[in-house]
Amino acid sequence: MYDEPRTHNDLPREELMARAQAALDQFARQGTPAHVNFKFTCERCGTRCTLSDPNTLYEEGECFQCGHTTKIEKGGFALTANLASRHIKP
Ligand SMILES: [Zn+2]
Repeated sequence: MYDEPRTHNDLPREELMARAQAALDQFARQGTPAHVNFKFTCERCGTRCTLSDPNTLYEEGECFQCGHTTKIEKGGFALTANLASRHIKP
């Protein structure tokens, strides 16, 4: 028996991308610049890694701790919104 560790609320790629897109759309409607950085968990050492390219979910990611390449089948994301440059309506 192998119990999968429940350390993060990771989502499958498809749902992850859909949720990220929905979040971005919401900010876009408000005229607020925003981007997401996808996250994954290293399958070897369990380190939580963030992909540095905004709005890009790669097939694989390299762990910054141990250098192991993980096939990203699920993950999370962090959203960054620039509220300071929010467009002001005339
Ligand atoms: Zn690692």
